[in-house]
Amino acid sequence: MKFRNITFAIVVMLAFLSCTQNPFTGKKTLAVVPNSQILPTAFQQYDEFLKENKVVKGTSEAMMVKSVGQKIATAAERYLNANGFQGYLKDYQWEYNLVKDDAINAWCMPGGKIVVYTGILPITEDEAGLAVVMGHEVAHALANHGQQRMSATQLQQLGATVGAVAVSQENQQIFQTAYGLGTQVGVMLPFSRSHETEADKIGLTLMAIAGYNPDEAADLWRRMKANSGGAAQPEFLSTHPSNDTRINNLESWSEGAKAEARKYGVTNFKS
Ligand SMILES: [Zn+2]
Repeated sequence: MKFRNITFAIVVMLAFLSCTQNPFTGKKTLAVVPNSQILPTAFQQYDEFLKENKVVKGTSEAMMVKSVGQKIATAAERYLNANGFQGYLKDYQWEYNLVKDDAINAWCMPGGKIVVYTGILPITEDEAGLAVVMGHEVAHALANHGQQRMSATQLQQLGATVGAVAVSQENQQIFQTAYGLGTQVGVMLPFSRSHETEADKIGLTLMAIAGYNPDEAADLWRRMKANSGGAAQPEFLSTHPSNDTRINNLESWSEGAKAEARKYGVTNFKS
């Protein structure tokens, strides 16, 4: 019991020591494990995932994933640089891969490691729809949401990974759970409602700066809603927030996102 208390105190202390600011909301968030420790593990997990799954290469769809991803990444960099967060992405190693899998899913791990599943493409339909999804996922990564949904114990374990040659199975599980790599719903922790809303809003700004019409976001979620009758899917068919709230929010934020993008000289929004 005593040992537990001491452990808890250390965790709390570390949390205070490494408070970081969310560049999009200005909110202080806890980053118990700094990027310098998280990213090597994230990169390793990403490579592992690509080895174990079928990466689609050279098709027009795979190229679309790369091209939209690059535009979203550039938009994120422009936004951060313009808002006093130069260097925020210095350790990022952006990568965009399409994986053959029927799950309606996509995710972005810390460090800019993105996977889009082929199963989501019939719903995204086109570049602008894909930009909604990728903007949303990149937003989760930029705002450190994955780390925030880990428990203190999990974070400690992960912190202990530093310098380890191989990632333990337990840590692998923590990663997959926190970043949505799992395709089984039961394994996945959903992001909280507030994180989802935050990712929607940030994602909308990113897609607009990338030159895509943010009006498309509400339509994407309408299509997602129409699809949600089938088997539950990770991340995208989670019900936080409810699809209707989400659609209303996105509609009400769209003009603001366009206004923000105009500050970067973007005047045409591709639909
Ligand atoms: Zn999300």
